[in-house]
Amino acid sequence: MKAKSAGIKLGSVGNARRRSTKLVDKMTPAYPSAGGAATQGKPEIRTENLNLVELIPLITPLSLKRKLAASPNMLEGVARARMEIGDIIAGNDHRMMVVAGPCSIHDPAEALEYAGRLAKLRDELADDLMILMRVYFEKPRTVAGWKGMISDPRMDGSSEIAYGLRAARNLLLKISSMGVPAAAEMLDPFVPQYTADLISWAAIGARTTESQIHRQMASGLSMPVGFKNSTDGNIQVAVDAMESARHPHSFLGIDDRGRVAIVRTRGNMNGHVILRGSSSGPNYGARWVREACKRMSDRHLNPAVMIDCSHGNSGKRYDAQERVWNNVLSQRLDGNGSIIGMLLESNLFEGGQKATEYPSKLRYGVSITDECVSWNTTERLLRDAGRLMRKRRSAMKSATAKKRGCE
Ligand code: PEP
Ligand code: MN
Repeated sequence: MKAKSAGIKLGSVGNARRRSTKLVDKMTPAYPSAGGAATQGKPEIRTENLNLVELIPLITPLSLKRKLAASPNMLEGVARARMEIGDIIAGNDHRMMVVAGPCSIHDPAEALEYAGRLAKLRDELADDLMILMRVYFEKPRTVAGWKGMISDPRMDGSSEIAYGLRAARNLLLKISSMGVPAAAEMLDPFVPQYTADLISWAAIGARTTESQIHRQMASGLSMPVGFKNSTDGNIQVAVDAMESARHPHSFLGIDDRGRVAIVRTRGNMNGHVILRGSSSGPNYGARWVREACKRMSDRHLNPAVMIDCSHGNSGKRYDAQERVWNNVLSQRLDGNGSIIGMLLESNLFEGGQKATEYPSKLRYGVSITDECVSWNTTERLLRDAGRLMRKRRSAMKSATAKKRGCE
């Protein structure tokens, strides 16, 4: 279905470029400005919106949430997952958090199949792993490319954001009804108004950790937030972001009726760092984990680190994620409790394929952004991790019992 444009046309880039080079001509629009300033016989000079094509009003966050409402059970699931993650960050829950799922969602049917499989594994391993699904609808791009399902749900450049928001919320409802908590990157600062009630954990990406806008947004988000090191490997920007987001901020935003508003936040105490490697190599090794923890402790922040097995840590090769996973798991099993979790880019099938405007040509269950490990690999990695975590837990239990003279 095509989204109807109820928008205000603001002229086209083509027209603006074709205009004469005379100053007044250059700034004279072919239609009156919204302000309608009296020009007293002079040609109207317009200095704003020259590069805008169209403004299309969107459904308000409140209306969308009413149309696609979360049930009390779903909200309870989100609240519980957030609390559990908060406990893991604080060191009050022995489990390791795992965020597994596709680099990006482009096909809700595939995402649901993945969620169904993950739901079973999540239950099976719940004593040792706290598993969430990556449900990433927004993709930051280094230069250009498909920006995710909210921005361009049809993958053809039509950018039907109204449809994208609806589709994203619909999918979040279905995934949460399966009992799987959703994890997402928060990129556009208005999007959380439409989706955040159904999201249990959020990431601020490598390209935006240093952005004040995103730190402010994170300070007002209701879920725990992981801040990634920058693409060139700077860990300090993630530590700074974590600290900044703990503070209250005031900034411009919208309320859930879509009105422009001053947003005043409380500050988000549930932040942590994510090591994602960089363009110059990985940073999942013990040396980097120590370095990140030191930087957090130096700022009197709770040292909590999650490792991203993909991106700079895998050189974006799906088959390199397993090496990262195993190394980080060993660090954790060796007693490094500041490692709170791992992030795995995983899909039904391994590898990746190029996004195309002909979705029917895409291979089912294969990532169209970063390469992913297959479901089979995911299942094996998660089961092995659960088993080893359980083994370590019982070894520690009996060591404690021995110390107390109970055995
Ligand atoms: C991602 O999670 O797919 C991603 C783009 O991550 P990063 O911000 O680390 O590049
Ligand atoms: Mn990715």
